[in-house]
Formats: sequence, structure tokens, C-alpha cells
Amino acid sequence: MCKLRGHLPDRGTARHDGQDYWTNCKRCDAPLIRAPDGWRKPTADELAAHVGHKAESGQLDDDAGVVRGRSES
Ligand SMILES: [Zn+2]
Repeated sequence: MCKLRGHLPDRGTARHDGQDYWTNCKRCDAPLIRAPDGWRKPTADELAAHVGHKAESGQLDDDAGVVRGRSES
């Protein structure tokens, strides 16, 4: 679904991680990051930074579905 219509961000659960707002897609649970013009998939670097924040609480395994190895720096 999301490949055709885009992700459906769950704004109700958006959280700020100290740098950006994050939430997950209601349909496929992909991580999404807040951009000035809407929600989008995070880059690998952004996701790594976000996971880094969460790593302090031991959660490292929610990056399924994100294409890795692509940096847009
Ligand atoms: Zn989705």
C-alpha cells in the first residue's frame, strides 16, 4: 500500500528525539521523520542517529523496511 500511496504517519504518537520529530506509519510501521513540508522516510544517517538515542534504552531493532547504505549528506 505505502509504495503506491505513501506512508500514513501516526501524528498522535509523534515524539521529539532532541533533534527531529519522529513517528511511525500506521499501515506498515515504517519510521517517519518530520520535514518542513510533511513527513518523509529518514535517511540512513538520520535513522542511525535516531536509533542511537534509543539505544540507551536497548532498542535497536525497528529499522525494518528502511533502505540502508544511502547517504544524502
Ligand atoms: Zn507505510
